Amino acid sequence: MLHAESLTGLQRFAGRTLGVATMHGKEQVIGPALMARLPLAGFTAIPDLDTDRFGAFSGEVARGTDPRTACEHKARHGARAVGMDLVIASEGSFGPYPPSPFITCDEEWLVLVDLRDDRTWVHRHVSLETVFGGEECRTLDAVLAFAARMKFPDHGLVLKTREHWLPGDRVFKGIRDAGHLREVAGRMIAEQGSVWAETDLRAMANPTRMRVIGETAARFATELAMTCPRCGTIHFAVAQALWGLPCAQCGFPTQGTRAYLRECRECGHRTEEARADGRTVEDPQYCELCNP
Ligand SMILES: [Zn+2]
Ligand SMILES: [Zn+2]
Repeated sequence: MLHAESLTGLQRFAGRTLGVATMHGKEQVIGPALMARLPLAGFTAIPDLDTDRFGAFSGEVARGTDPRTACEHKARHGARAVGMDLVIASEGSFGPYPPSPFITCDEEWLVLVDLRDDRTWVHRHVSLETVFGGEECRTLDAVLAFAARMKFPDHGLVLKTREHWLPGDRVFKGIRDAGHLREVAGRMIAEQGSVWAETDLRAMANPTRMRVIGETAARFATELAMTCPRCGTIHFAVAQALWGLPCAQCGFPTQGTRAYLRECRECGHRTEEARADGRTVEDPQYCELCNP
């Protein structure tokens, strides 16, 4: 029997164990971040869950759906597999940063599902901090130079027959050892004239990504712990950035973020929140009137 008060505010989490649907060690950063803000009893990785079947970075499994949906599927699948009712999953993708396409960004999603009342909470975080790349190499020296640029061996590498996987291709993941790298790359170059080298983006092989996931989880936990001042529902989260930061010289509203809007999904209550950096005016160089 479910009592309504057990679903109110942060009490929802009291004494419960959070399942983290991952097979790449991500529970090590996600669990503690949520424990720090929510009254959970503990967390546990949901073991033996083949999360790669929902989409793998190295291309053998195509991710058939958008990352937010894939992430929610992972969480729900994990919950069903072990019979837990509070499960979080993570999903990341790397690509060009839209405002500046020559920069790569890491877009991380977290989805938390509570099956007791079938609620879902979502957080997205984009970081420009990445160790990400791929290159076709024709010599061992080229492989080693690429590896050095990609912070190997702290960050793992993948060696593949070619960039875009085809049935029968070989894929060597999780290479973290210089001897192993030389051996596999040397053999593949000898056999086929070249090898495709790329960063291994699985969290346990890419400490930069693991750190970004931890940061995403910390931000998510902070947003989850914000409760609506009117009705007390959790996740009184930023729903929108409001533009119109006034120009320092003429006061005209610019495209810069003026404030953030928090919104309650339950009762619709909204508040405006000032910028965390305290800025109240925009540099005139971004003003359409002062610098057209
Ligand atoms: Zn509310
Ligand atoms: Zn101006």
